[in-house]
Amino acid sequence: MSQDFTDFFSHRANNLQESEIRALFSVVSRPEVISLAGGMPNLSRLPLHGIAEVTDTLISTHGESALQYGNGVGWDPLRSQIVELMRHDGIDGDPENVVITTGSQQALDLVTGLFINSGDLILAESPSYVGALGVFRSHVADVEQVEMDQDGLVPAALEQAIANAQAQGRRIKFLYTIPNFHNPAGICLSAERRPLIVEICKHHNILIVEDNPYGLLGFRSDPAPALQSYWPEGVIYLGSFSKIFAPGYRIGWALMPPALCEKMTWASEAAILSPSMMGQMSISRYLSDFDWYAQVQTFRGLYRERWEIMNAALERYLPQCQWTEPQGGFYTWLTLPPGLDSKKMLPAAVEGLVAYVPGSAFYFDGQGRDKLRLSFCYPPIETIAEGIRRLGVVITKHQS
Ligand code: PMP
Repeated sequence: MSQDFTDFFSHRANNLQESEIRALFSVVSRPEVISLAGGMPNLSRLPLHGIAEVTDTLISTHGESALQYGNGVGWDPLRSQIVELMRHDGIDGDPENVVITTGSQQALDLVTGLFINSGDLILAESPSYVGALGVFRSHVADVEQVEMDQDGLVPAALEQAIANAQAQGRRIKFLYTIPNFHNPAGICLSAERRPLIVEICKHHNILIVEDNPYGLLGFRSDPAPALQSYWPEGVIYLGSFSKIFAPGYRIGWALMPPALCEKMTWASEAAILSPSMMGQMSISRYLSDFDWYAQVQTFRGLYRERWEIMNAALERYLPQCQWTEPQGGFYTWLTLPPGLDSKKMLPAAVEGLVAYVPGSAFYFDGQGRDKLRLSFCYPPIETIAEGIRRLGVVITKHQS
């Protein structure tokens, strides 16, 4: 008999794994390593003094509410502001269907809990967001990943995955998709494909979970309208303030189809009682007192400049590789020359003082060893080209 109770763990706990990205953190936080691994937003251009003043006023004038519990569904004024914000994504929502959560990560967890029994099937893109795969794993879901190309999820591959599931008598609980500036692939689902993907799901009665934390961060233009706008009854849309403002408030949301909204609220109450009132009221003030959209444009320019530097360095130092060309967001997805393994190569890369996330982190079944994710969002701008140069040295060494 064990004395430490680890043999009491649930199936869910036994299914948990350390995220490959977390495992990297201790190494890449060494100052001499240039980390192209983390997906943290770059907050260097936020108006911190102005935010401090607003926070000060918030506490001195509304402190008792801001520091009190709220309700499970979220603070009404912010729910209405979120509906206005989603108009940028072509969504005509109702504040009644907005559930505010502790980041969109919690919304993902709650939605998964609403639909998944152990062994149930979820479809996701191939590759997919490591944090979503972690949630799905923690609910002991099974995940089938569906091919993407430069225009996003491939409709024929989606049809095929559905046919395969049907042939095995398995019900698909939902399709999880990141249509805009995909993490990690860096690409967008094309305008032409959006109605096609929705039609396929509608036809087969498959719920869609649309995750859109990066949609406002296009370098030059906005992506096509959200899948939600084509099928409000069949799409759960997840949004977040983490990338367009700051993740520290931990505020995200789910726009729910009306029939699913009540259960989502109960699930959220059971999990956290209420999202942070301080966070919600601060964000509400930020949206009303600052030109938040001008700030988004500042972020767009900042990320575009960083991508241009990375792209030029990739062309110079890694001509033997292929990579996706993001039109927004934080990431590019790189394919190594044949025979190289990004996971095996990582220790050598860290020794060469550069870090990335190995492709296998973004697959449920450990595929993707010839891929890796590079982030241009966070490292000091003057280190990006040097990071790519170092990566070039490591790759060339492993080729020979
Ligand atoms: N979805 C995607 C695709 C993400 O990249 C992230 C954060 N990296 C999240 C959801 C979660 O974001 P948050 O909880 O901060 O809203």
